[in-house]
Amino acid sequence: MNKKLIAGNWKMNGSLTANDVLVRAILTGLAPEASAVCDVAVAVPAPYLAQLQSLAVGSSLALAAQDVSTHEMGAYTGEVSAVMLRDFGVRYALVGHSERRQYHGETDHVVALKAQRALAAGITPIVCVGETLAERENGQTEAVVKRQLAAVIHLNGHCISEVVVAYEPVWAIGTGKTATPEQAQQVHAVLRAQLAAASDKGARIRLLYGGSMNATNAAQLLAQPDIDGGLIGGASLKPTDFLQIVAAAQ
Ligand code: PGA
Repeated sequence: MNKKLIAGNWKMNGSLTANDVLVRAILTGLAPEASAVCDVAVAVPAPYLAQLQSLAVGSSLALAAQDVSTHEMGAYTGEVSAVMLRDFGVRYALVGHSERRQYHGETDHVVALKAQRALAAGITPIVCVGETLAERENGQTEAVVKRQLAAVIHLNGHCISEVVVAYEPVWAIGTGKTATPEQAQQVHAVLRAQLAAASDKGARIRLLYGGSMNATNAAQLLAQPDIDGGLIGGASLKPTDFLQIVAAAQ
């Protein structure tokens, strides 16, 4: 069994004051022995990385970025490089979140390049894949997630074992409509098989589920054989809910 990973995705939420309250509550609630069975991370907006780094220093709470540039450095106004993220102790970076794919036109190739930049800087990319409602209704779920994952495997072949994959059905994100544990497991099994075929370490790659995971449904989802953790949006902004999800992963 893989060590679980529970990662919060704050999206474009937070303020210096609110972050302080939220992170202190999370740190207080994290059981010291919990880190043996479950890794916990929060993906925060880039301007708050320094704040989070100092709040979380010496704790088991890992820092994640929500995005990373495809470029190494240079004239790319507004971009944040993987090496810059590394300077702030960032351990993970989300790549290819559906909101990036949808609102910022990120293609599979761009997502693969982002994963590559993260890996080169020693940051573990959390590669997000997932189908839209229309794709699910057309029976394309498997084909879509396999295509999205294949792009990353293709470009990052030899270091694929160092990624985390998050299955996030687009129709479940922020909608309160969670995939059932069976629906999620079915897709996770497909991704697991694809990873196992690509790498002899495929079975050890962590597969997270994301999409309206909350304190009530987390335990059932996390009990599935191929679900190794969660990527939590809305519920990660509420410390009690987030901590309950972490507890459900133990
Ligand atoms: P949600 O978001 O938990 O609010 O559905 C998950 C995500 O977008 O990562």
